[in-house]
Amino acid sequence: MSENINVKIGLEIHVPLRTEQKLFCSCRTNYYETEEPNLNTCPVCTGMPGSKPFPLNGYALETVVMIARLLECKVIDENIFVKRKHYNYPDLPSGYQRTSEPIGKEGILNGVKIWEVHLEEDPGRYDLDSGRVDYNRSGVPLIEIVTAPDMKSAEDARNFLKELVNLLKYTERIVDVGGVMRADVNISIEGGAKVEIKNINSVRGAFKAIGFEVIRQKGLMQRGGTVKQETRGFNEKSLITTSMRVKETADDYRYIPDPDIPPLQFESDFVAGIKLPETPQTRKKRIMESYGVREDYAQVMVRDKDIADLFEKLMNSKKVKAETASMWICREVLRQLNYRGIEYNECKLNEKIVSELLQLVESNAITEAVGKKLLERIIDSGESPKALVEKEKLGTVSEAGQLAEIVEFTIKENQQAVVDYKAGKPEALNYLMGSVMKKMKGRADYNVVMKLMKEKLK
Ligand SMILES: [Zn+2]
Repeated sequence: MSENINVKIGLEIHVPLRTEQKLFCSCRTNYYETEEPNLNTCPVCTGMPGSKPFPLNGYALETVVMIARLLECKVIDENIFVKRKHYNYPDLPSGYQRTSEPIGKEGILNGVKIWEVHLEEDPGRYDLDSGRVDYNRSGVPLIEIVTAPDMKSAEDARNFLKELVNLLKYTERIVDVGGVMRADVNISIEGGAKVEIKNINSVRGAFKAIGFEVIRQKGLMQRGGTVKQETRGFNEKSLITTSMRVKETADDYRYIPDPDIPPLQFESDFVAGIKLPETPQTRKKRIMESYGVREDYAQVMVRDKDIADLFEKLMNSKKVKAETASMWICREVLRQLNYRGIEYNECKLNEKIVSELLQLVESNAITEAVGKKLLERIIDSGESPKALVEKEKLGTVSEAGQLAEIVEFTIKENQQAVVDYKAGKPEALNYLMGSVMKKMKGRADYNVVMKLMKEKLK
């Protein structure tokens, strides 16, 4: 089977909005911090007969319009009906989910077309194992973003989702805790039907699920089978997708306008009056101008709001230089995170720890080599670098007397390298330097050792 077979991937992304109150009642929305089930509920969000929804949460609506504008959507400003989408499941006490008609249409992000942006309410949570239902989440405002099937691989989808989640974080109006984002993915391969995968709740999960599904569908077609239209669930633990049901069509949901909610109309100055937040692009420019950071580093940092926040917190504390901070963040911190396959908010670092480490390096209290070793450790442990340096005596050794002995010993031990160096091979010097640094476990002051080495090799 040809590798460049046409794969089309589209996404529907749901993210809870950070609001005080639910979409149609005044219950609190912090279900992700609430241990006790069914604490933040009322007759509206539990769908009691006769309960009437409050007027729609204005802040949630404003947020959806803001995001639609950030995604360069055309904002629809009149006759937006809130519809009832019917289905039967224990997480939905009223038997329908309220979802708006598109508020934004025809946007674009990172080359992927945005079809629609909606506002809707979250259902509750139903635990299949215990059979219990928790309605703390029921009625929490969600934004739904639907893309065109413009992505062609798991990598494309991962890049798009990362960029989207980052942009949403810049609004500071979404719930930014792990596992709250939910994505449904639809995938079709030339010659097969569209398959939808549900239950994906991380960028990493989407990447894995798409990778699995593309291979499954290609394999099926290769063996002469047919890919049928269906909905599959993704299991984050086993990393496979399994069939859930044959896909519903829009007809199955029996959409009707909610008679309790008048269609939304925006005043002419409402849309234009919403102040847009700083975006990654505007922040990049500001970081370069305010701190003199290199363009490539600024670009890397703004791509992840948490990383750019870390950098600016370090700058605000005025204890480390912009050059040191940007270089260490972009080269060392991100390399360690990538190696572990985790995000900054999943590691044990914080601005205090990073600041301490960089101050030690800048003041030459430790060498860069020791700094890197320490980072590798504290990223997982969250220990204080200063305390570790004291406890384990990791400070820089720059005393010439102590270093001279080791330099002499190294030269004696490596006569061939000395001959090579004198014959004009500069790499022999690197070898000798490396040998000294190794003996000193990276703690030797590089410049002092270099000076001693050159003297002895004359
Ligand atoms: Zn309520």
